[in-house]
Amino acid sequence: MGVRLEALRWGTRCTPRPVGRTSSGGERLADREDDIVTAPPFTATVAGSPRIGPKRELKRATEGYWAGRTSRAELEAVGATLRRDMWSGLAGAGLDSVPVNTFSYYDQMLDAAFLLGALPQRVTNIGDELDRYFALARGNDDVAPLEMTKWFDTNYHYLVPEIEPATRFALNPRKVLSELGEALRQGIPARPVVIGPITFLLLSKGVEGAGPPIGRLDELVPVYSELLGLLADAGAQWVQLDEPALVTDICPDAPALAGRVYDALGSLSTRPAIHVATYFGDPGPSLAALARTPVEAIGVDLVAGADAAVASIVEVPELAGKILVAGVVDGRNVWRTDLAAALDTLVPLLNSAATVAVSTSCSTMHVPYSLEPETGLDEKLRSWLAFGQEKVTEVVTLARALRDGRDAVAGQIAASDAAAASRREDPRLHNDRVRARIADILDSGVHRGEPARRRAAQDARLHLPPLPTTTIGSYPQTPAIRKARAAFRSGEITEDEYVGRMKQEIADVIELQEQLGLDVLVHGEPERNDMVQYFAEQLAGFAATRNGWVQSYGSRCVRPPILYGDVSRTHPMTVEWITYAQSLTDKPVKGMLTGPVTILAWSFVRDDQPLAETANQVALAIRDEILDLEAAGISIIQVDEPALRELLPLRRAAQGEYLRWAIGAFRLATSAVADSTQIHTHLCYSEFGEVIGAIADLDADVTSIEAARSHMEVLGDLNSVGFANSVGPGVYDIHSPRVPGTGEMAESLRAALKALPAQRLWVNPDCGLKTRSVDEVTASLRNMVAAAHEVRAAAARSPR
Ligand code: GLN
Ligand code: ZN
Repeated sequence: MGVRLEALRWGTRCTPRPVGRTSSGGERLADREDDIVTAPPFTATVAGSPRIGPKRELKRATEGYWAGRTSRAELEAVGATLRRDMWSGLAGAGLDSVPVNTFSYYDQMLDAAFLLGALPQRVTNIGDELDRYFALARGNDDVAPLEMTKWFDTNYHYLVPEIEPATRFALNPRKVLSELGEALRQGIPARPVVIGPITFLLLSKGVEGAGPPIGRLDELVPVYSELLGLLADAGAQWVQLDEPALVTDICPDAPALAGRVYDALGSLSTRPAIHVATYFGDPGPSLAALARTPVEAIGVDLVAGADAAVASIVEVPELAGKILVAGVVDGRNVWRTDLAAALDTLVPLLNSAATVAVSTSCSTMHVPYSLEPETGLDEKLRSWLAFGQEKVTEVVTLARALRDGRDAVAGQIAASDAAAASRREDPRLHNDRVRARIADILDSGVHRGEPARRRAAQDARLHLPPLPTTTIGSYPQTPAIRKARAAFRSGEITEDEYVGRMKQEIADVIELQEQLGLDVLVHGEPERNDMVQYFAEQLAGFAATRNGWVQSYGSRCVRPPILYGDVSRTHPMTVEWITYAQSLTDKPVKGMLTGPVTILAWSFVRDDQPLAETANQVALAIRDEILDLEAAGISIIQVDEPALRELLPLRRAAQGEYLRWAIGAFRLATSAVADSTQIHTHLCYSEFGEVIGAIADLDADVTSIEAARSHMEVLGDLNSVGFANSVGPGVYDIHSPRVPGTGEMAESLRAALKALPAQRLWVNPDCGLKTRSVDEVTASLRNMVAAAHEVRAAAARSPR
C-alpha cells in the first residue's frame, strides 16, 4: 500500500527571497501578489543536534582553554571541525534542511543573550567577547555567573539571562552569521536556529527591580526583525525560531503573544521563510495562534503529548497552507522508532498541511551521538535502540515513505517491526514475580505507623539532642578516590585492593565526623561514581553505555543508564559499606539510597509502559535494600529524591497524576520499616512551592531540603500544609567554596526556630559535599556544629 503526498499547495504564503534589506527593525509589509517563491519546502530534518563532540572533544577543548592548556585558536578549530562534521553527517544522511547555529561553547540561552544584547552590566567592561561569555557562564574573581536552571523537564541546564531596568536590546549577529556562512560555503542547506523571543523572555529573569521580562517583548521584536533581514541577506532561505515555552503554562497570554509576534515577523518583506519550533509537549492553543500568522512552518512534538497534539493539528484549518514539521522521532529518548507506527501517525496528517516534513521531536542534543561505539551492549538490546545518528536515518526513511510510499522502505520497516517484536517478547521485560509482589504490597497499603508513635520509638532508640547535626551523604570525592576507581576499572588494582582503599576513605570520613562532633554520621559515598549510576549498575533491568554521553551543562556531560526491562534487585547493594561504617562508631550512621523518581529522572526510561509502573519496580528494589539495612541494625535510612520537582509535567493538568505516583513510589520504597527506624529524605535543586504538599505526603520522618539561598521560606510553606515531621533546612550553600561563619548559620537556625520547634529542627548543609575540598568541608562543618551548639543552648534556656 503506497502513500503519496498530495501535490503541494505551496504558494503565495511563502515569503520571497529578499530584494534588499530593510533598515534596522523596519517592518515593510510584503506585497504578496508579487511574491516569488524561492524558499524550497523541506521534508526531512532534525530540530537540533548535539555539539559536545562524538568523543566529548568540546569538553576537553573548553576545559583546556579555561585551564590555559589550550589556545583560543585551538579551541576555535575544534569548534569548526565539530560543526563541519556534524553538518556533513546530517546532509550526507539525506536531510534536506540542516539546523545550524546549534553549536555552542556553553549554552544556547547564553548565546541568545549575546545575540540580543541582553547582558548584565557587570560584564560590560570585559572587552573581549569570549572572555565575557565565559565570565557569565562560569563566573570569575570579579563577576558572578548567571544562575543555572533546568531546561524544561530535561536534564540539560541553561543559564538564566538577566534583564535589568537598564537593559537595551541590540543585535550582535556575529556568531549566527558566521556559522551560516561556514555552512553555506560547505554547500549545506542551512537553517539557522535561534531561540524565539517569547521563550527567551519567559525563561529570563528580571533583576534589580525590572519587572517580568516578557513585558519587554515589544522592544525585542525589532531586534529579531533586524536579525531576519540580515539572515536573508546572508543567504538563509529558512530560519528556525525555537518556542518551547509555548508548550507550558508559565504564561497564560502566550498564545496571544505568539500570534502578535509572528504576525509582525511574518509580515517583514526581508526575511527567510520562518519555521517556529515548539517541542517538549502539546502546544495547545498556541498552535492555532501560530497557524493564523504568516509563518511558513510550524514544528510540533509528536512524541511528548502526541495524542493531544495530533488532535489539535486536525482541528486547525490554517495549517493547510503550511509545512507541518512533524516531530515523530523521539529526540530525547534512546528507543528505535517503530516506523510503521510513526507512519500511521504521519499519514493522516498529510491532509492537514501543505507539506509534512519529518523531524525529531526536539533537538537530539539530549541523546548520545551514535550507537556505533556501543559494542558492549547485547545484540538484542542494541537492536532496540537509536541514538542521534540512527535517529537521523529514521527521519530520512520516514520522509522517503511519505514521498514514495511504504513499499519504497519495506526493508527498513521490516527491520523495525522485527526489533519491536524482539523487544516485546524479551523475557527481561516481564518479571512476573516483581509484578505480583508490587500488586500484593499495593493491595495491603503503603502506609507507615502514626507519626507520633514513630517519633516516640525513634527517640527511645536514637537519643539525639535537639537540633541534631548531620550531612547529606557525600564527602569530598578526592583525587585519591578517583584514582582508585580508575585503577580498578582498568584492572590495575584488584577488587580487594579497591574495596580496601574505599574502606580507608570511609574510616577517614567517620573519624573526621567524630572529631567535628556531628550527631548522625554518613559513610561519605566514596564508592559511588554517581548516585543513580551506582544503583543502575547493580539492578537487573538497566544497561550502561560505553560512550553514551549527553551534555548536562557547559562542559559537563552525563552518561545516563538505560532502563530497558523489569527492574529487580539481585543482591544487597549498600549493606556491606554501611555496616562497615557503622562498625567504626557508636553514633548512628545513615544508610544512603537514591529514590525511585530520581533514578528514573536521570536514566533513559522505557517507553512501553507508564512511568508509574517503572517507578514502582525501582521502589520495590529500594524497599528490599531498606529492609536489609534495617535487619543489619542500621537505625536511620535516607532516600534521596532531589529530582522530585524535575519530573513535574510542564502542563498543570498533568501534575496531579504525576505527584500521585511519585509519592506512591516513595512510600512503596519506605513503608516497610519498623516505627523505630527513621526514614530521611533529601530534596534540592529547585523551588519547592509547587510541590510542597507532595513533600509532606512523602511522610519521611526527616526531610533535609535546600534552603540556604531561599532563606528558610520553605519552612513556612511546609507549616501551611500542616507538615508535622522534622525538617533540616540547609544552613549553608555547598555550591560555593566560601566557608560560612558560625554567626550567620546560627542566625539561620534562629530564623528557622520561628517556624519550627527545636524538637523538629535538624542542622545540615544544603546538599552533598562531594564537589568541595576537604579543607572547605572541615571548616564549614566545624562552624555549623558550633552554630547548632550555640542555638541549642539558647533553646534549652528558653523552651518554647
Ligand atoms: N546523598 C547525595 C549526596 O550527598 C545527595 C546528592 C543530591 O542531592 N544531588 O551526594
Ligand atoms: Zn542535594
